[in-house]
Amino acid sequence: MVICLGTISPAAARSPDLVLSATWHARPCDAQPVAHCPPVEDEPGQPVAETGYTGLQNPARGRSLLAPGADPLAVFERRPLDVYIVPEGGAFLDDDHTDPHYGVDYACPTDYLQGQVTYFYPIAPGFVTARSSCLWCYVDGDAQGRVGWKWPRYNFGWGGLVLVETPINPQVSVYILYAHVARDFVSLGDFVTPDEIIGVVGTSGYSEQYHVHVEIRYGPPGLFWNADFSQWATHDRWMATMFTDPALVVYRQNHGLLRAALEQWGPLRPEPQPIP
Ligand SMILES: [Zn+2]
Repeated sequence: MVICLGTISPAAARSPDLVLSATWHARPCDAQPVAHCPPVEDEPGQPVAETGYTGLQNPARGRSLLAPGADPLAVFERRPLDVYIVPEGGAFLDDDHTDPHYGVDYACPTDYLQGQVTYFYPIAPGFVTARSSCLWCYVDGDAQGRVGWKWPRYNFGWGGLVLVETPINPQVSVYILYAHVARDFVSLGDFVTPDEIIGVVGTSGYSEQYHVHVEIRYGPPGLFWNADFSQWATHDRWMATMFTDPALVVYRQNHGLLRAALEQWGPLRPEPQPIP
């Protein structure tokens, strides 16, 4: 996938204050120089980040994707589906479930009941920091990848997933997880925007009907770069990362609350403790 971020000089690309403003809709890329996310140097004194087996570095590091203007969080205004239902209270599509639910389930039943594919979009621009097709869901489950357990190898019930990291500032990124996907069209490190389809709504993992489960958290940049969501270490890190109500993200009138939370997060951040 071509990354189209407009013109970035090598000197500007190294600036930690670099703001990749809302030029992602400036297409086609052929019309202007293309920047392939130049590598960002680590902060002085900080160890070089783990790059993982791909050898790629997390392109979200040291960047900010805030929108210029009065509401810098305006980049978070999209819903993952154009037409959708959200259950009352944003909880489960299925009332029978009582176990904790950390996201909002979006669905478009009229589409899938008519056999139509439902595509979904990222809520905000960002970098794909993890993804999984959940092969085991299809090995053990039905043709849609449905399984009856939240086992680790089913990505703890999330099934096929895409995790997009939106860097807010050098200290904090917002992570948006899209789960139960049937398939996705992204690769690790891709820059994605709300203008483009990133996957197909599915029902893989611990799921009973077609929907996209959206879960939003925020924390240090790079926390889930190339993470394997079938591992307990990733699961525990994800659950320990600050959760935020998607209603704070996708409704403009709530952006003040979210912005305050993001700004306060750094100073209030507790020292990470090793997992016993
Ligand atoms: Zn859900």
